[in-house]
Amino acid sequence: MDTPQSKSGHEVFLRRAFDVARRAMTHGNQPFGAFLVNAAGEVLLESENGFMPDRDMTGHAERLLASQASKQFDPDFLGTCTLYTSAEPCAMCSGAIYWAGIGRVVYGLPERRLKTMTGNHNENPTLDLPCRTVFAAGQRHIEVVGPLLEEDAAAIHDGFWDKKLAEHAAP
Ligand SMILES: [Zn+2]
Repeated sequence: MDTPQSKSGHEVFLRRAFDVARRAMTHGNQPFGAFLVNAAGEVLLESENGFMPDRDMTGHAERLLASQASKQFDPDFLGTCTLYTSAEPCAMCSGAIYWAGIGRVVYGLPERRLKTMTGNHNENPTLDLPCRTVFAAGQRHIEVVGPLLEEDAAAIHDGFWDKKLAEHAAP
């Protein structure tokens, strides 16, 4: 089994996060996905972007996942777990990951590059603050790996935000 201890293991899990992100789109949501594995590489939780059905601007995949993880597991255990996410956690999600106690984050697409794709989109006005900066302000260490497979991660967003803007521009 792949474990979250090596670059090749990270890439295998990250590709699964990309699959979750693509599935989110088929549910009318934004193309973001995350999941949580334990040290043995067993998948514990998975989360798609949850903007719809309530138009929840805070329904990011990693924030939803961190809240769920915190309700199910204690911080000591979560400190041994890894969260894989298709795009770098924003400041809000990084805060949620910190508070839940998750020990490691592996991401695909950097927030800064996502910003060039979404612009100031009304559904996702990307907040470009590196997750490492947020974590560095905390009181426990969170390991960060990324960007990884950046081009594959970016491809998930190809055309998505332009199409969204066109829908909003339509009368
Ligand atoms: Zn977020």
